[in-house]
Amino acid sequence: MVARQTIIVVGCGRLGSMLANRLSSRGRDLVVVDRDEAAFQSLSTAFSGFRIIGDAAELAVLRRAGIERASCLLATTRHDNVNLMVAQVAKTIFGVPQVIARVFDPTRQAVYSQFGIETICPTTISADHFLSALQDGPAEGVT
Ligand code: AMP
Repeated sequence: MVARQTIIVVGCGRLGSMLANRLSSRGRDLVVVDRDEAAFQSLSTAFSGFRIIGDAAELAVLRRAGIERASCLLATTRHDNVNLMVAQVAKTIFGVPQVIARVFDPTRQAVYSQFGIETICPTTISADHFLSALQDGPAEGVT
């Protein structure tokens, strides 16, 4: 059996294109999916992966992206619902070994983890950075 190697990046916005460009420069096999063809303009000239135009919420689009051979799927759109749905499909229907989704709503992180989906929450990360950047530190007794 051929080992799964491909990384699928869903959404080629600011986050998705940055990830795709960096992973491509590390020599990883990549497929980027976006429903808007113009989004691929954010990919660098050195990007060596594949581009798939389509709605990642559709199974046929994920199949065209080679999800059956994917080792990892990164769901990076700005829509929590889309990311959750695509990540869930990748995990439960296609058995993608590692699935990581961007989720803005911290209260939804628990839902994702129930499905074995890792999450990155920009809201929580930003709050942590703001608090650690505060010059005067937290008030006594406050965490
Ligand atoms: P940003 O707005 O910079 O976070 O970028 C999000 C990207 O995700 C945009 O390029 C959108 O076109 C793309 N996107 C949003 N929803 C979907 C979807 N269902 N399937 C594929 N791409 C999507």
